[in-house]
Amino acid sequence: MSAPRTPIEVLVVGAGIAGTAATLAAAKAGARVRVFDGGPGASSLATGAIDLHHWRAGAASTGDPLLARDVLGALAAFVLPEGGSTLLTTAGVMRTALGHDAALLDLSPFAGRCVAVVRCARPGWDADALATAVGGAWIALEARVLRHVDERALVDAGFAALHDDEARLAWLADRLREALATAPTGSRPAALLLPPSLGVDRPRALALSQRVGIPCGEPVAMPGGPSGLRFERARDRALAGAGVERALERIARIERSERAWRVTTTAGTQLEALAVVLATGGLLGGGLEYAPLGRILDAPVPPRAHPPIRLTIDAPVSMGAYGRPLEAPGTLFGAAPEHLAWPSAPDGLLERAGVLADEEGRCLRAPPGLYVAGEIVADATHTWLRALLSGASAGAAAAAFARVTCARSPDRGPPSRP
Ligand SMILES: Cc1cc2nc3c(=O)[nH]c(=O)nc-3n(C[C@H](O)[C@H](O)[C@H](O)COP(=O)(O)OP(=O)(O)OC[C@H]3O[C@@H](n4cnc5c(N)ncnc54)[C@H](O)[C@@H]3O)c2cc1C
Repeated sequence: MSAPRTPIEVLVVGAGIAGTAATLAAAKAGARVRVFDGGPGASSLATGAIDLHHWRAGAASTGDPLLARDVLGALAAFVLPEGGSTLLTTAGVMRTALGHDAALLDLSPFAGRCVAVVRCARPGWDADALATAVGGAWIALEARVLRHVDERALVDAGFAALHDDEARLAWLADRLREALATAPTGSRPAALLLPPSLGVDRPRALALSQRVGIPCGEPVAMPGGPSGLRFERARDRALAGAGVERALERIARIERSERAWRVTTTAGTQLEALAVVLATGGLLGGGLEYAPLGRILDAPVPPRAHPPIRLTIDAPVSMGAYGRPLEAPGTLFGAAPEHLAWPSAPDGLLERAGVLADEEGRCLRAPPGLYVAGEIVADATHTWLRALLSGASAGAAAAAFARVTCARSPDRGPPSRP
């Protein structure tokens, strides 16, 4: 199929948090943007804690989140409190984070105070164990949270979706107020921690807190819970608000044509774009592939060695790690997978390999106009806020590049949006 005559200004590949941030930043800069996405990636599996650096027990989260506020404002489902936040996981681990999904309860204001963990017969939820794990003034609180017995069997996201409904949220607020009224005076909780339950369409913690009269929220849950779905819904609303449609279609090839970038989908459709942002994620998102040498050893004589990690899209980028190009191993047998990843290799190749790029996401050793963002960037920390910041930066840079290209060749297409 032939490419359309008018190139898109900025084409973003991938709609995890990096691609979303790139799209919103490019659209805010006035570019006409299109997004192609292959479906859920790491951002849809994340658990709602927002970090810039990898969180380790005992380490405080630091960094300058100011740059993220535009994108977070458009998503309207995440918060970055001044001074960071303190979250509890469903495994009973207290951890710091720079920010969080707005349905999660920030425990920072409640140090040394009574927080009640609400009892609820749902899989993986043990209010008494959580209250004991934290200790101090924490208590478990009896309350009716399940309205029907079959709600025990719902997955977390399905249970959370029930509370998108106003009437159901009001019912829950009534039950929680009744439960609080039974708490002995003197040990009245300052906040309530509930199982993952507070909405999928939008975070419902604030609405519930207002009805109950004290802060209510969730802990950090397991991957695949409501936080990932809340991200997807927030993303779709933010993209629609920016006038950008997310096409659920995978990109197979990106190549430089005479006048622009030619992008081919797996279905064979071709488009042209003045600038492209690759935000296809790492191994989880599908942007990178672990390609062990065993595969080429199927041949009677192994033809060649190649690096064990490669890009899944055919694109003229340079792969690298540790600040230098990715090299093929010195032996045809290559490195065993356990030597590439944590815990055997604490700073292993699987965490580091990606596309070599500069600070703004410009691909090194590629023709101009090709950018990368998020986990696909070589040596990038694999965290939510890092992906967001790199996406915002690459999207703005791509829009600026498209604008300059348009100004140089006004016959190339219609003017940018105001
Ligand atoms: C279980 C889990 C827990 C985590 N916990 C935390 C945490 O506590 N704190 C924290 O800060 N971070 C956490 N992270 C990390 C954080 O979520 C990721 O670093 C971040 O979401 C990566 O975003 P991304 O946009 O780069 O990639 P992704 O979210 O993976 O997005 C990549 C997108 O590209 C699309 N794509 C891939 N190939 C193609 C193609 N050929 N064509 C079109 N589209 C394509 C995919 O469909 C996907 O939508 C966690 C991650 C996971 C998986």
